[in-house]
Amino acid sequence: MHDNIKIFDTTLRDGEQTPGVLITSNEKLKIALKLDELGVDVVEAGSAITSKDEQQSIKLITENNLNAEICSFARPLKVDIDTAIDCGVDSVNLVIPSSDLHIDFKLQKSRPEVEKMAVDAVEYAKDHGLIVELSAEDSTRTSIDDLKSLFIKTIDAGADRICPCDTVGILTPERSYEFYGELAKLNVPMSVHCHNDFGLAVANTLAALNAGANQAHVTINGLGERAGNTSSEELIMAIDTLYHKKTNIKTELFYEISQLVENISGVVLQSNKAIVGKNAFAHESGIHADGVLKKSETYEPMKPEKVGHRRRFILGKHVGKHVIHEKIKETNTEVTDAQLNEIFKRIKALSDMGKTVTDVDLQATVDDILAIDIENSLKLQEYTSVSGNKLTPTASVKLSINNKEKIEAGVGVGPVDAALEAIRKCLVDVADISLEEYHVDAITGGTDALIDVVVKLKCDDKIITSRSTQPDIIMASVDAYLKGANKIITDKKRR
Ligand code: MN
Repeated sequence: MHDNIKIFDTTLRDGEQTPGVLITSNEKLKIALKLDELGVDVVEAGSAITSKDEQQSIKLITENNLNAEICSFARPLKVDIDTAIDCGVDSVNLVIPSSDLHIDFKLQKSRPEVEKMAVDAVEYAKDHGLIVELSAEDSTRTSIDDLKSLFIKTIDAGADRICPCDTVGILTPERSYEFYGELAKLNVPMSVHCHNDFGLAVANTLAALNAGANQAHVTINGLGERAGNTSSEELIMAIDTLYHKKTNIKTELFYEISQLVENISGVVLQSNKAIVGKNAFAHESGIHADGVLKKSETYEPMKPEKVGHRRRFILGKHVGKHVIHEKIKETNTEVTDAQLNEIFKRIKALSDMGKTVTDVDLQATVDDILAIDIENSLKLQEYTSVSGNKLTPTASVKLSINNKEKIEAGVGVGPVDAALEAIRKCLVDVADISLEEYHVDAITGGTDALIDVVVKLKCDDKIITSRSTQPDIIMASVDAYLKGANKIITDKKRR
């Protein structure tokens, strides 16, 4: 494998082709800025010819003078290349169908015609100062002779890089090694582009890199057509940690960018997704958790910090006392050994009954054992909110705080946001509370479902979790926030 592997990110092109995903111009810019910070070598920003909106998105990105090379997908047509040039890109990813299947059925042209189109397009793009990556679509179902002929002609015409694409994800690691190895003999910079139809995209990409490819096409979270593309975070951590080779990627930004792409794309990650999934560094079993606390290497192949993630301990039926103690310490609460024993006994009893023990359950148990009576120093007197399609969501809240009334109004992106902002303003003089996490679940089905809201609030160094379950999502949010704030204020008084 080459010592330095280049990363070509196509989250904004192939990734956006994920069924059901549409990313707006401003969101694309946000992702592109983060990709640049991450250190990718090339950002494929989209396909300029697609629409006016797409051109707008690409322009927004090129205007920001990123370090990364900005690329547009293009067919071997002047109009595609001209549109890409108008958007100010550095390069084009010229995609030429190469298999008989694509040439006969999709293009309905002859192979020599397609080769001529490709050569003309490369010459035209080079004449206009662009870097050209020549992608052969459906390469892995093309005869190697036809493929070599296409690449040799387009390299002669000036193509800077070639990219044989496994468009339908049919390679195996062995075939990938052989296939990319054969094309590496052409001795030009070569990308590998894999799809994950059999869950082999990362393995096939690694095999191609081992065979001499020096650049990998990837997407954040493995987004992409059908089952997706090679996942950036999985591939790069393997290159780094298992193959000990270099990329320009700042791996500690992976978790953050993964979350950003998850939120913007709306494609929710499976919890056991490698590297960035919710459970990627989560431990439940007592033996494992205890081992990790003593030395993380016992049950972790890399440190979560290396990808900007966090270690989590889950309080399941295998929970050990150590872990419970760690979780209590996370909230900056002190307990004696006897108190810890009692908390452990009760948590264990809960989980033995088959209940999933949450942070809220743990906190309730700790509060109970430590005999923390929550004073109701905060009471909700009035709450009003207005929301609609032609007004800014606004809420007003009247609270009694230690028997003094306070009224504030807040605006937000929605009624929940507005209500919580109004409460935060009411409490500003009492405690500087920030909302660290907000989680909402519908417990039952239907629009009349019971809504369960869990909030994590932070004040000074203390983190408080609280919950409320109600039919009204705004009331559940307000109530959970006020319960948490009551705990914080009670705790502050006792210090
Ligand atoms: Mn693709």
